[in-house]
Amino acid sequence: RVLVGTKVDETHANWVTAYNMLTGIRVSVSRTNAKLDRDVTLADFDVKQKSTFDIAGNELVPSAKYDFKFKDYAPWVFRNLRGLFRLDPADYLMSLTGKYILSELGSPGKSGSFFYFSRDYKYIIKTIHHAEHKFLRKILKDYYNHVKANPNTLLSQFYGLHRVKMPYGKKIHFVVMNNLFPPHRDIHQTFDLKGSTTGRDYKEDDLEKNPRATLKDLNWLRRKRKLELGLQKKQMFLEQLQKDVKLLQRLGIMDYSLLIGIHDLRRGNEENLRDKTLRVFNPGGDIPEESEPNSFLMRTPSKLENQRKARELRQMLQAERPVPMGQTSNRMPDELEEGHSRPDALFNQDDGGFQATHEDNTPADEIYYLGVIDCLTHYGIIKKLENFWKGLSGDRTQISALPPQEYGDRFLNFISGITMSQEEAVREAQERDAA
Ligand code: ATP
Ligand code: CA
Ligand code: CA
Repeated sequence: RVLVGTKVDETHANWVTAYNMLTGIRVSVSRTNAKLDRDVTLADFDVKQKSTFDIAGNELVPSAKYDFKFKDYAPWVFRNLRGLFRLDPADYLMSLTGKYILSELGSPGKSGSFFYFSRDYKYIIKTIHHAEHKFLRKILKDYYNHVKANPNTLLSQFYGLHRVKMPYGKKIHFVVMNNLFPPHRDIHQTFDLKGSTTGRDYKEDDLEKNPRATLKDLNWLRRKRKLELGLQKKQMFLEQLQKDVKLLQRLGIMDYSLLIGIHDLRRGNEENLRDKTLRVFNPGGDIPEESEPNSFLMRTPSKLENQRKARELRQMLQAERPVPMGQTSNRMPDELEEGHSRPDALFNQDDGGFQATHEDNTPADEIYYLGVIDCLTHYGIIKKLENFWKGLSGDRTQISALPPQEYGDRFLNFISGITMSQEEAVREAQERDAA
């Protein structure tokens, strides 16, 4: 669980993987974007679009540096999902593939997944296990319908599901999703909440050397923290959360959490942090103080290479997009405005997040950046076993591997219990004291 960045250059295996991921996305997504719009059909959910890349290239795929195979799953569905999430097609490609720069966090979670940020920190690429990949394909229709019916869903926003395979290498599945945290705001504290207390504690002693670690349920409770929302916002938030959790329960999903990033307006953006990655993304928290920033830049292509790539990409976008190009087409990502990609969405309405409010709906001093993450774990046989063994020793409602129905109920219970305005919290404390 140690997050040490290793420099990746052209000789490093991760460079090739990342290069291939981005090349595959660039070619496959622009091909899909080029098509004339039409409705999603049932058949679209089962589509696998395969491309084979090599140095030579052919009329279908441009030449690439390395040999690899790329699969784009349900590309038409994801194109529509990106539309529902209001991403600009050209911006999306530019952020991810305008320059071949990603920062990598080695495997931060227990799961062994790798996380990469797009260079503007808007997007996260997460490698996922085969089982998660299969499961996402299975539930894609339900997910798509849910997003359509719930434009303000708090669930992870999936923008693409892909696979790369290098010669003699194993298959690597990955999703592209939203980074919940904004690139332009300091996140002063991060919590990953499941509504469970077992093992849900970040060692407070370690906070000193790693003040921006992701804290957990017990740390939250110890601080007597609240998600400070007045009546109106509280209702909006809990109503959406209930709908989202209901879907997860129906699909047999568990182990997800509510990720909350807190920007404290009193502290503002003053603390010029050494490393952006540290402030926006610090999951495991075990970052050695003296090490280099825990992210690293993948090798930056030479200027010439960049110019060539930018030209190529522009040409591709211009040639393949049926609609007239918006003003974004000729801008490089450097010039893209900072901020959240969905300012119009309910929970991103205040500077990309959801500002705390008092009981009477007047604004309070924090902005929350929040969403439900890690929602591809199906309550399968492994979890059942885990439940069995843990169940032998301890309170069954306090262990994390609960069946989906109970998991969701406990999750909702916990989150609604901590969502209240300052005024409500004070009243609650007084009532407790009086009793
Ligand atoms: P595990 O299964 O052990 O929990 P995982 O590899 O599935 O790990 P996640 O739970 O998805 O990983 O994420 C781990 C951490 O990464 C989160 O606690 C959070 O700090 C960060 N993270 C994950 N997804 C996002 C996101 N969309 N935006 C911002 N941060 C994220
Ligand atoms: Ca998790
Ligand atoms: Ca996981």
